[in-house]
Amino acid sequence: NNYTREDILQMVEEEDVGFIRLQFTDIFGTLKNVAITTSQLEKALNNQCMFDGSSIEGFARVEDSDMYLYPDLNTFEIFPWRPQQGKVARLICEVHKADGTPFESDPRYVLKKVIEEAKEMGYQFNVGPECEFFLFHMDDDSVPTTISHERATYFDLGPLDFGENARRDMVLTMEDMGFVIEASHHEMSPAQHEIDFQYDEALSAADNIMTFKLVVKTIAKRHGLHASFMPKPKYGENGSGMHTNMSLSRDGVNIFSDSSDEKGLSKEAYYFIGGIMKHIKALTFITNPIVNSYKRLVPGFEAPVYIAWSAKNRTPLIRIPTAPEGEERIELRSPDPSANPYLAFAVCLAAGLDGIRNKIMPPKSIDCNIFEMTEEERAAAGAELLPRTLLEAAQAFEEDTYIKNVLGDDLTEKYIKVKTEEYMNYRNQVTDWEIAKYLHVI
Ligand code: GLU
Ligand code: MG
Ligand code: MG
Repeated sequence: NNYTREDILQMVEEEDVGFIRLQFTDIFGTLKNVAITTSQLEKALNNQCMFDGSSIEGFARVEDSDMYLYPDLNTFEIFPWRPQQGKVARLICEVHKADGTPFESDPRYVLKKVIEEAKEMGYQFNVGPECEFFLFHMDDDSVPTTISHERATYFDLGPLDFGENARRDMVLTMEDMGFVIEASHHEMSPAQHEIDFQYDEALSAADNIMTFKLVVKTIAKRHGLHASFMPKPKYGENGSGMHTNMSLSRDGVNIFSDSSDEKGLSKEAYYFIGGIMKHIKALTFITNPIVNSYKRLVPGFEAPVYIAWSAKNRTPLIRIPTAPEGEERIELRSPDPSANPYLAFAVCLAAGLDGIRNKIMPPKSIDCNIFEMTEEERAAAGAELLPRTLLEAAQAFEEDTYIKNVLGDDLTEKYIKVKTEEYMNYRNQVTDWEIAKYLHVI
């Protein structure tokens, strides 16, 4: 899309749009919005819509709380699930401070900055995410549960798959909004699903994830179900990942591809992997940002545990999916859908660029099942552990000045503070597991 102001006004008129939602994302990845009617549209397009930043978690301090929303015209989209008269549309916005300058901790701005850096090096960053999620029942009061009576598994179909109707509606709704859906299917665990949409330039890809989650949750609710992107909602079952496929292109040509290489990868691709691996412990704080994220990164559930890469199998952190020539990419398997996609893509790109600038070669690939190796074999192969808790990730992040700089001082400070509190609060809980294990016998 390449819309002008006039295009927006015309579409609003012609499509009978009654409401426009001005959206943005807070630093923890929560979608926020304020709705306006068409009477206020001119004002919004003049970047004059204001909100109280101090009420948004991780945004402004109380002293300078007035903030402005600057709509990105190219993000205009109509919500197909809302009424067809007096339709509801949205514009995704940049957040600016009272003096008109961009707000440094606006996640979209953070990503745009790194994208700009890549552009100066001649690169476009392309991202294809694979989001997994669960569809659970709600109780009689519409409170979400973790209950599903479904028994389906990978690639099953109805009537075993209870989610097929909801999933179909999600896909059709997304297609109405311009998404290209490549595949949708039942995942490994009962009630677990995946919908894959086409890769895009990183900023659009991050916007798409925010839209995707909104659509999935909205349509699920219409089917009386609760969609959850929680990384590990059920003990003993697979968690939900957000595998992130990444490549760089120059003038529309994928530069990760080199047919003369045995794995089909270019030097830049190797360096990009090297950069990601160098910074992965700090990145994990952003790509796996909640306490529950670390319940997913355990052996036995198709999620990564060790820092390793492979062109062949899917047990390591980074995999090179088989691809037709020219579509080579790297798949980072650790991110989960609780991550703020803008920040996650920003730190991944920054790490990759560091790899390219400093010609960081990754260690040798590990092409066997990493979980079947002995402790000694893994140590010899240099496969270190990913952070095992949010606290370990926070500590790794603290030590990585390069990655902290990508996010900026203000965001870094708020993020660490909130996440450390979150972890400490969790640590203080007495869980059902402890009661079951200890109360009777100790
Ligand atoms: N659900 C798995 C995870 O937690 C991934 C399964 C797959 O390979 O698609 O990452
Ligand atoms: Mg999957
Ligand atoms: Mg995958």
